[in-house]
Amino acid sequence: MSTPETESSNESTRIRAAVFDGNGTITIEDVDLAAPGPGEVRVKVAAAGVCHSDLHVTTRAWDVPAPVVLGHEGSGVVSAVGSGVDDLEPGDHVVLNWVPGCGECRACQAGRPAQCSLVASVVATGGTLYDGTTRLSNERGTIHHYLGVSSYAEEVVVPRSGAIKVRKDAPLEDIAIVGCAIATGVGAVRNTAGVQPGSTVAVIGCGGVGLACVQGARLAGASRIVAVDVVAEKLTLARTLGATDVVDASTADDVVAALRAVVDDAGYDYVFDAIGKIVTTEQAIAALGLGGAAVIVGLPPQGERASFEPLALAEADQRILGSNYGSAVPERDIPALVDEVMAGKLDLASMISGRRPLDEAAAALDDLAAGHALRQLLIPSA
Ligand SMILES: [Zn+2]
Ligand SMILES: [Zn+2]
Repeated sequence: MSTPETESSNESTRIRAAVFDGNGTITIEDVDLAAPGPGEVRVKVAAAGVCHSDLHVTTRAWDVPAPVVLGHEGSGVVSAVGSGVDDLEPGDHVVLNWVPGCGECRACQAGRPAQCSLVASVVATGGTLYDGTTRLSNERGTIHHYLGVSSYAEEVVVPRSGAIKVRKDAPLEDIAIVGCAIATGVGAVRNTAGVQPGSTVAVIGCGGVGLACVQGARLAGASRIVAVDVVAEKLTLARTLGATDVVDASTADDVVAALRAVVDDAGYDYVFDAIGKIVTTEQAIAALGLGGAAVIVGLPPQGERASFEPLALAEADQRILGSNYGSAVPERDIPALVDEVMAGKLDLASMISGRRPLDEAAAALDDLAAGHALRQLLIPSA
């Protein structure tokens, strides 16, 4: 694919993309990608991260419009801009943002773009861009976008706010994971919880988001960071990224008791549930200390319910916090996180467990489901 000119933005292009049919099949197909409309940009994808939120779609834990081009984490180079976009140009390096705030709704105006009502009501639930239509189609007919991104593809068309400009000296493939895992995990620590220096922190689940929570807690100056997982290799990696202690949930009889024992039974100031299963959410609440906050970062299947004892929560002045996309303000947070990568404060390379061609999208999701992959990158040009 040659470097497109801005003038080419009114032409559609043929791309290869990983399409999920809504039933259980992922196929690599040729897809027509329409030109970016007003206020939209086209981005040539350098790398797409494989995240549990993609798996929730393919296992049908979440119901999204299908057929759909998967992927909501990625990085790339702007290849064309639609009318009205005057602050991005072809050649700019960007990280893709799966909550492309409209800038005008009540949540966006309040500085909470991760709660944008237009994203929630149209982009996320409708599988389209803002105008209620998609830029993706082929012989099947209309194909939907996933969270306004659809990065398992050679190129994407996204709203202007879905492409966050970043510095060009950052490693373009690696920073794909800043767009979901890092923004979500570090953001949960900083934006949602506001972890203070000296705090005690536990992180349940050491996948991409959980390890980003560990790194965020380290940068926040937490005094104890206790990582929990069932895979020994992930616990070893958690230690290298900042965990002071680990609990192997595959051998612990009682994870909450094991967690509490690490901090002399005092409980934790913050517990991050980076998995989002009912059992892990309940463990996060049960492991809290006086005044502690449980932060739900990993996203459970639709419709599930967890339980806790309200009296214990009230008496101990505890809180349960939800965290969507790390309560991020992507335009502010993503370039700053990339700066921290370049300053050696955030380690992305250790979190990336493999780079695979786009053709292996289904296999990469299978490996993620099996628990032995960390963050895998799909490289469309490979
Ligand atoms: Zn994700
Ligand atoms: Zn909005």
